[in-house]
Amino acid sequence: MKISCKAFELELKHPFSIAKFTRTSTPLFLLKIEHEGMVGYGEASMVPYMGESYETANAFLKKVDWNRFRFPLDFATVMAYLDDLAPGNPAIKAAIDIALNDLNGKLLNKPCYEVYGADPAKMPVTSFTVGIDTPAVLRKKLEDAKGFKVIKVKLGRENDQEIIETIRSVTDVPLYVDANQGWSDRIKAIDLIYWLHNQGVVLIEQPMDKNDLEGNAWLTERSPIPLLADEAMQRLKDLDGLRGAYHGINIKLMKSTGMYEGHQTILRAQKLGMKVLIGCMSETSIATLAGAHLAPLCNWADLDGPFLTVNNPFEQPEFKDGKYILNDLPGLGLKGMKENLFD
Ligand code: MG
Repeated sequence: MKISCKAFELELKHPFSIAKFTRTSTPLFLLKIEHEGMVGYGEASMVPYMGESYETANAFLKKVDWNRFRFPLDFATVMAYLDDLAPGNPAIKAAIDIALNDLNGKLLNKPCYEVYGADPAKMPVTSFTVGIDTPAVLRKKLEDAKGFKVIKVKLGRENDQEIIETIRSVTDVPLYVDANQGWSDRIKAIDLIYWLHNQGVVLIEQPMDKNDLEGNAWLTERSPIPLLADEAMQRLKDLDGLRGAYHGINIKLMKSTGMYEGHQTILRAQKLGMKVLIGCMSETSIATLAGAHLAPLCNWADLDGPFLTVNNPFEQPEFKDGKYILNDLPGLGLKGMKENLFD
């Protein structure tokens, strides 16, 4: 097995603001694993608030004994091994998981969706996210959203209603809202949720602080639309404790350490009667496709990474009528890598 990696700065189309942060690029760690003439690609998107960096990613990779992996892989064993090496590090673990899934699919000659029992015909539409901004900038960002069937809006500051009214002056597509823990007064929050419901908002992510289980549960009991845990939902082990406090969860491969645990989380949520939105970080086609292969198993998708960035070193995944179209190539079906990317 030959391992190559590449630090890569993914530039955002617009500076991105959510309730608590603003940024203009995201550090990525791209991974290439070669084995028996096949190549698998993986990616860690290390958004600053998750605490990973090139240094932590490199340090983790050095601990991995690649010679212990045997194909076809038993991912339960592989991922337990990675968790035993060090706690945390979900993004670099996801990069390894995604590269191994791509490689495993190629060695089995099956697309990843087939390995995970997902039907590409059941692909949900993907939303296009707009960050918090002034009405003038928002209108400009919404021009990029043409072709999307759903828009996801970041709220959680003082001007939530103004943002929605600005969007509604431009488009009447359904909206997802992400409050990013920005609401603290539950009475004001439930009033706003009813107002948002009337504005065509169909779900809301992380209304209140991730640690305020009781406040979020109070809202969930009363909300006319599904409320989803995002910041409160990191790994599979968190899921059972969220039952009753939210209608569902937002999973992201960069939190779940990749496709294997992401898939396990979807199955567990279905068993608990909870809904699932599959989301993403700022990502290239690698991690976006990894999410897209699991998306048909989810209720909603928010996999807009490649549309919000300008230097994706791969071909954009095929996208039509607001949905990703998965090809039938083995593995992730990744195409068009920029020349010499790993040199
Ligand atoms: Mg979110």
